[in-house]
Order: sequence, then C-alpha cells, then structure tokens
Amino acid sequence: MTIETKTRTVAVVGAGPVGALAAVYFANRGWNVHVYETRPDMRLPENKAKIQNRSINLALSVRGLTALEGTGLALDELVLKSGLPMRGRMLHIGQEGHLISQDYGVHGECINSVDRAKLNEDLITAADKLKNVEFSFDLTLKRADFDNGTLELENKVTKEIVNAQADLIVGCDGAYSSVRNSLMRFVRLDFEQGYIPHGYCELSIPPKKNANGELEFAMNPEHLHIWPRHKFMMIALPNPDKSFTVTLFMPFANFEMIHNKDDLIKFFEEYFADAIELMGKDLLIKEYFKNPKGSLVMIRANPYHYKDRCIILGDAAHSMVPFYGQGMNCGFEDVRILDELLSEYHVKSSRHGDSDHSLQRALEAYTERRAKDLKAICELALYNYIEMRHGVTSPVYLMRKKIESW
Ligand code: FAD
Repeated sequence: MTIETKTRTVAVVGAGPVGALAAVYFANRGWNVHVYETRPDMRLPENKAKIQNRSINLALSVRGLTALEGTGLALDELVLKSGLPMRGRMLHIGQEGHLISQDYGVHGECINSVDRAKLNEDLITAADKLKNVEFSFDLTLKRADFDNGTLELENKVTKEIVNAQADLIVGCDGAYSSVRNSLMRFVRLDFEQGYIPHGYCELSIPPKKNANGELEFAMNPEHLHIWPRHKFMMIALPNPDKSFTVTLFMPFANFEMIHNKDDLIKFFEEYFADAIELMGKDLLIKEYFKNPKGSLVMIRANPYHYKDRCIILGDAAHSMVPFYGQGMNCGFEDVRILDELLSEYHVKSSRHGDSDHSLQRALEAYTERRAKDLKAICELALYNYIEMRHGVTSPVYLMRKKIESW
C-alpha cells in the first residue's frame, strides 16, 4: 500500500515582524508558505508614507535575537548592524534632570534599539528570498474556516473577494486578529481584552551640532533614558541618525488637560524641564499636537490552536503593554518554540496519510507549554510600568538621602 504524501501548505496571516519570521521558519522546514498582508508592501518607496507603525523604534532583547539567530540566516547580525546597544537606563530625576545611570547587567548585557520599519522590511525581504515563500499584499483576511482550510480575503484596492486554501493557518495578524475572531467559532476560546487608562505620544530629540559642525547625540546613546514621574513617565531610545525617539506615557486624562501650546510648555516646565532644551520648544509643540495619542491594549487568549489547522502567535495571542519591551521579542520566541515542538513531534514537511497526527500533537503541546509563560510575561509587562515610572526612583532617593546624611 502506498501512503499519499503532499508538501504541507501554511497560510501566514500578517506580515508584521512575527508573521515574517514565522514565514522564514516554516520555509526552512520545507513547507510551502503563503503570507497574506492587509497593508501594501512596505518595502516600496511609494508605500512608506502610507504605513502607520505603532512606534518608530523598539528594544530588541536576547529573547528576540535568539529566535532571529535560529533562522540560520544570520538575521540577528543583520538587524544588529543598524541597531544601537543600550547597556542600561539613564534616569532623569527631578525638575533639574539629575542623571543617574543604572546598568542592565554586570557583564555588559544590552538591549538594542532598532528601527521597527527596517526590522520588518529586513524580515520580509529574508522570507521573500526563499523559493517556497510567496507574499500577497493589500489582502485582508475576513474569515477562515479551519475544518476546510479556507480563507476569505478582501482586496483592499479592488474590494474583490479572494479565496485561498492551506493545511495550516497561522494568525500573526496582531492585537485585533481576524484569525483569532474566526478561531472563537471553532474552539472554546477564553478571551480577555482590556485597556489601561494610559496612552502614549511619540516625540523626538534631534541631533545637535558639535564645535566642528558635526551632528552628535544630544544625550548618551548607550542608554534607554527614563524620566520617571510616578503617575506617568517619558522614555527615549537612540536612533542611528543620532536622534532619539521619545515616548510620553501618561493617563489620557492628563493628555486631555493639555489644550494649547501654553498648557504644553507649562506641563513640560513642571515635569520635564531638561527635555525642553533637548527637544527644542518649536519641535515639541509641533510633534505633540501632530502625533496621535495611542492607546495600550492587553489581550489574553487560550487555547492558541485548533486541531492541526490553526495557531495564533505574537500579539494575536498575547498583546501586552510595552513597558517590558518584550511584546515583539516574545512573539519571536513563540515562533522559535513552535519550531522546536514541530521537531520534537517529528512533524515532516509532508503529511504521511490520515494517521499522521504529529502536527496536532505539536500544536497541543504548544498551547500547554506556552500558556503559563505568556501569562507571566504579560503580568511582568504591566508591573514594569510601575517599576519604570516610580520604582526606579525609590532606591535612588534612599541613596541620595543617605549621601546627604553623610
Ligand atoms: P503586528 O506588529 O501588529 O503585525 C500584525 C500584522 O498583521 C500587520 O502587518 C497588520 O497589517 C497585519 N494584519 C492585521 N490584520 C490583518 C488581516 N485581517 N489580514 C491580513 N493582515 C492583517 N515590543 C518589543 O519587543 N520591544 C519594544 O521595545 C516594544 N515597544 C513598543 C512600543 C509601543 C508604543 C507599542 C505600542 C508596542 C511596543 N512593542 C514592543 C510591542 C510590539 O509592537 C508588538 O508586540 C509587535 O509589533 C507584535 O508583532 P506582530 O507581528 O505579532 O503584530
């Protein structure tokens, strides 16, 4: 008797960082991969202005780097080439902006500031180079039927409906995932969504000119800068062009109290006086009123899979607040761990007849093994907001008090 074998096909929905990385991992395993993305191709110059990202830069940590390295394509090295290592945090304490450096580790451990758009483009390019990966842009998943392996997508430009088919559907379509919405009709999915009362606004600190007329960083670029102000905070991450991307996190109620430029400058003079000089008043006013005030959503879901037909990864499965800098890193880890389980359960690139349940077992193991860790990291992310905006100051104040008493 001959057993029919056919190369497995996977539809990855979403070409964000996690979807693009998942495409590389599945292609490496010999699967045929089709990635469907609602946005236009971000690599094309004409589309760059159309794409609104959630942040300009991101902190990439060893958790994410390990997954990039696991592709065997030196993607960790590629991404780090344009990243900037941050070896600690620099606290800007009090109105005068008294600086205190706190290293992340005693052995020079770093997190890395990377450009979100470039990272995403690099991953799409890496996946696109593989012969068994195909990308389709401007296609929005509307619904999926996992038992039949079908996807219904809408072309954003022509509004035409496109039907597609795959053995496995991988939802990497972010916090408001359509794959997850469809999954809810197939499994008893526990689901929780919540917003914190705080939002964020991105600002910037431009490079400054030194005595020779060369551009240089306005602050130490080896740090993630934090202005902890107890109920809110501001942070800044360095960029390769010697600017810093600044993010102001505070309750929406506080944003709503700033109506005009006088209110804004008064607020900054009270809480972030040293930053006004670094940003420049005009730029601060322009960016604050132009840039959106983003909300911060938390998503929890369980299980993450349905039979051997669907799995959700990244923010689609566990959107967390950004204060631990681990949302994307953790999404990358999802991909690496899923890949490890596919090996552990001997899932081949072709299905060996109806008695081959290896994929279903691997996906079950993923939900079982990953749930506790994902719950923990979401809680740590929330806790770290209190640590960053308030906790970091406590030992400092204690230490200063001690010094003052000497
Ligand atoms: P996304 O990045 O949301 O990508 C989802 C993709 O799916 C998008 O391309 C989208 O267009 C596409 N899509 C959506 N719906 C559909 C559909 N129906 N059909 C087809 N395609 C679809 N994480 C870190 O690790 N470090 C940090 O420093 C960090 N900083 C952050 C700062 C801020 C202000 C915020 C808000 C988040 C931060 N994060 C950080 C979290 C990080 O942004 C996310 O965890 C990460 O983007 C998740 O990647 P993803 O690919 O799962 O989802």
